[in-house]
Amino acid sequence: MLHLLDQTPEHLRAWFTERGLPAFRAAQVRRWVFAKPGIEFDQMSDLARPLREQLAEAFCIWTTRVAARKKAADQTEKLLLELSDGQRIECVLLRDDKGHQTVCISTQVGCAMGCVFCASGLDGVVRSLTTGEIVEEMLRLKQLLPDGERLTHVVVMGMGEPLVNLDRLLPALEMATHRDGLGISARRVTISTVGIPKGIRRLADLNCQYHLAVSLHAPDDDLRNRLVPTNRKIGIAAILEAADYYFEKTGRRVTFEYVLLAGINDQPEHAARLVALLKGRPALVNLIPYNPVAGLPYRTPAPAASARFAGALEHAGITVATRFRKGDRIDAACGQLRRSQPGAPDRGADA
Ligand code: SF4
Repeated sequence: MLHLLDQTPEHLRAWFTERGLPAFRAAQVRRWVFAKPGIEFDQMSDLARPLREQLAEAFCIWTTRVAARKKAADQTEKLLLELSDGQRIECVLLRDDKGHQTVCISTQVGCAMGCVFCASGLDGVVRSLTTGEIVEEMLRLKQLLPDGERLTHVVVMGMGEPLVNLDRLLPALEMATHRDGLGISARRVTISTVGIPKGIRRLADLNCQYHLAVSLHAPDDDLRNRLVPTNRKIGIAAILEAADYYFEKTGRRVTFEYVLLAGINDQPEHAARLVALLKGRPALVNLIPYNPVAGLPYRTPAPAASARFAGALEHAGITVATRFRKGDRIDAACGQLRRSQPGAPDRGADA
């Protein structure tokens, strides 16, 4: 049986026309699924019963199950989804007082990048998600909204490195931005990467207007090699060149994410080196005070240390935003809810 959400609009149209059925029925089915997450074929009241039966024999719509749901006082909600093979992933719905309803989605089960402070990478990567599974994350989160409310933003910032699963992510984002899909503006989609130059260039050449965020976390290769081990094979210079290329091709300013770890990368000398690296680039730096992970030795900097770091960047003319933690009480740091569930692997002795 095929996963309906894995089918691009073209594939679904082809399925109808190959059977002598009108292609517009494909758009009708897609509109039902995106407007009413959780719906089954027999509830699609404007399709003839024999067609509904034919569809139900060929496709399944939903392949995931909500294994856990948590809600924080600030209305942030996190879902732990169980996939058809029993693997589990996380996705989050964030709300703010401007009426933004943002989904944060995963692209892989686990992550191979091995950032030392991150819960998602602790056990490596199991597999990449399919297009349908990525779309299903967005729809399961949309299901949490009251009727009539819509999702406004997508951030691809959950478990996994999106640019190593680009072939499956891009069709999922196409469905998120399609008028018969979720209808979210491409400019409101952010892809966050550890910095894979080849993937950044590919995305730049597609010029699909997505916003690119590069997780830098350190101002030099020495420190970055320790915090983000995959950097040993890449190096900051190659990442910045690719980010510059992204700006040239798309005209979209790149965001550099920087998780502040107390005593490790939050000192004045780190800020000075970051200024030297980014000065003259049309960049925004997003500072993220660390969200502690059980079993890991890293700490959140004191608010004064974060403010001092931000001030040093701003003083040098760099635009800075500080992203405060949302959903603290729901294991909101990426990968934490998955690890807190019974049966999750323990952190090894090298923690
Ligand atoms: S921070 Fe992102 S890239 Fe690094 S291990 Fe975690 S999920 Fe992977």
